[in-house]
Amino acid sequence: MSKDKKTVLVTGGAGFIGSHLCELLLEKDFDVLCLDNFYTGRKKNIKKLIDNPNFEYIRHDITQPILLEVDWIFNFACPASPVHYQYNPVKTVKTNVMGAIHMLGLAKRVKARILQASTSEVYGDPDMHPQREEYWGNVNPIGIRSCYDEGKRIAETLFMDYHRQNQVDIRIIRIFNTYGPRMLVNDGRVVSNFVVQALRGEPITVYGDGEQTRSFCFVSDLLKGILAVMESDCNQPLNLGNPQEYSILELAEKIIKLTGSSSKLIHKEKPLDDPVRRKPDISKVKKLTGWEPSVDLEQGLLKTIEYFKQIL
Ligand code: NAD
Ligand code: UDP
Repeated sequence: MSKDKKTVLVTGGAGFIGSHLCELLLEKDFDVLCLDNFYTGRKKNIKKLIDNPNFEYIRHDITQPILLEVDWIFNFACPASPVHYQYNPVKTVKTNVMGAIHMLGLAKRVKARILQASTSEVYGDPDMHPQREEYWGNVNPIGIRSCYDEGKRIAETLFMDYHRQNQVDIRIIRIFNTYGPRMLVNDGRVVSNFVVQALRGEPITVYGDGEQTRSFCFVSDLLKGILAVMESDCNQPLNLGNPQEYSILELAEKIIKLTGSSSKLIHKEKPLDDPVRRKPDISKVKKLTGWEPSVDLEQGLLKTIEYFKQIL
């Protein structure tokens, strides 16, 4: 392609992260093609972009091939919440595996650079803490999370093989728990569940004893990391996340405090294979690109609470 302006395809572009990414790319003056099957994505998320002449959206499912002319591809299509990816696990595998094959085939044909949204779930229930990119993970191949975890792992394999075999210009990011405005009320992930429950004065559902940990990254920080990696020349997987680690109980207490809610905690059964600890080592991406997150949990939660107050 000879034109200066890049055309960028964002699969999963009507979802939580994808819609923020479309918006950022338009601000940076790219032509943006948003592709989504609207499973967990919403037209509402991209409503304010529709009138932008540099924006188009296509209703399409990446388990089917598609022919397009693009310069960059961000492959984000895949439900990310356990509730949604476990609803139809076979479809989740197809989205990850066939979706990756179709997007990589497209990248190969048009010589586009392609970035895969992988996940901290490739580390499974990790024995290494914090998790570094060199760690191969501890994943149950036959459990209820496997459709997602193993789906993302085979997608990484496909990316590396298309790179080695066909010289496709790949990037892989392993995203750790990310939160912020535009998560669905019924998303099912912990931050949105707790904020919605706190605002409604309903019991806060802590799964298990709540001692399990996660590291939460605010979406605006993640977006800067995504672009930094896309613009880098690194073809190896890179962690993107916020290394501040909290137990689920600590998260619940923070949300109760910040919302001023009278909600009480209740404990529910912990889901099978729920990872015990999770925290990214981000030294590699920081060294390569200078990226690191800057929004702390309280700041990010306040913005997220504000969003849910408006939509509830
Ligand atoms: P999301 O569910 O809000 O977005 C996923 C989008 O993909 C939705 O718009 C959905 O409709 C679309 N989609 C799903 N299957 C599709 C298919 N077969 N064809 C076309 N579109 C399809 O989730 P999110 O949190 O925005 O996550 C986006 C990506 O980032 C996912 O690939 C997810 O695995 C990855 N990721 C997210 C997190 C996180 O904490 N949010 C963490 C790790 C990885
Ligand atoms: N969790 C919880 N209550 C909820 C939702 C989730 O205690 O209402 C816990 C869940 O068991 C896990 C952690 O919060 O230990 C993060 O869950 P989430 O689904 O957000 O993401 P993931 O497990 O994929 O990291």
